[in-house]
Amino acid sequence: MKFTYIFGPVYSGRLGHSLGLDLLGDRICSMDCLYCEVGRTEELTLTRKPYVPAEDLLNELRRWRDEHSNNLPDYVTLGGSGEPCLNSELDIIIKGCKQILPSVPVAVLTNSTLLCNPEVQQALREADAVLPSLDSLVDKEFAKLNRPCGGVNAAHIAECLIEFSKNYSGKIFLEILLSQGINDSQENLTLLKEYVTRLQPHRVDVTTLSRPGAFSLAKAVAPDVRKEWQNALSECVTRFDANGSASHQRATQENAPPAAASQPATGNFADLPEQDRSAVKERVLESLTRRPQTPSQLAIALTLPLSNVLGALDTLEHEGAIYKSEPDRTATLNTDEPFYSCQ
Ligand code: SF4
Repeated sequence: MKFTYIFGPVYSGRLGHSLGLDLLGDRICSMDCLYCEVGRTEELTLTRKPYVPAEDLLNELRRWRDEHSNNLPDYVTLGGSGEPCLNSELDIIIKGCKQILPSVPVAVLTNSTLLCNPEVQQALREADAVLPSLDSLVDKEFAKLNRPCGGVNAAHIAECLIEFSKNYSGKIFLEILLSQGINDSQENLTLLKEYVTRLQPHRVDVTTLSRPGAFSLAKAVAPDVRKEWQNALSECVTRFDANGSASHQRATQENAPPAAASQPATGNFADLPEQDRSAVKERVLESLTRRPQTPSQLAIALTLPLSNVLGALDTLEHEGAIYKSEPDRTATLNTDEPFYSCQ
């Protein structure tokens, strides 16, 4: 059965197998980040509305549960093609998810811009994990990389996140995405180290681009730079370890994102029964409508054999449903694989 607001489960390096819920239904966000993998923001706003009504979304989730009760994800993740805290029914949605799937924790991805709103803070307190992003505390870098709505200030939202954390019993996984030459400065690292020391999140995830962003200006940093930042910022977290007890958080295997699921190397797409080929094609296409991905990323996200993904991509490309990105568009992403996209 087709779903409009639910996608996945897909494999997420930060949360494991994650069932995504789109709370916006369109590219509506309070930022227009250079690196955004869903493309340019079409409606740049700080106005909260029921962009996707809670009732519609929760009815879909009930249908999904009825079809997949034997295969529950590690997390239900509220996100979508924009900022989920813009949905003014966020509180109803979080509570509804917990009623419908009581054994599955709820995580919320957020760009942090609405964290100064008391209603947003109140709604987020019901979530099991909040994953705020804060890429730079240097004003110029924040403005250049994240391109927020007017009036949004990085230092201010950073303070609101600290205020929120004081009355929140769930987990906070802070994300910092590095873009080469924009926010990988020593000044930003110094400010973020001071900030992480104060915030004491459960985990810091330093990431970089792994897919083409909305603008070619956004480029991935080298793996050793990402690792250096990961180590430096993880050292600032002294309150929790991977089990939630007090100790240094080390950027070693225990708090690194879960390892990618290993993929069977065999399996011939052409030999699958017709209905299985259609099902694989449908899943690959559905995933590509969300974001451009390489064959390996698709195989991991969808837990499918790479050979099946490659077969489906080949067929979809011949049908004109997707296209392969030009090699120079992927050259900055530390991957030799092409990206596929529906756009
Ligand atoms: S990356 Fe996130 S915060 Fe930035 S524009 Fe895209 S959806 Fe919005």
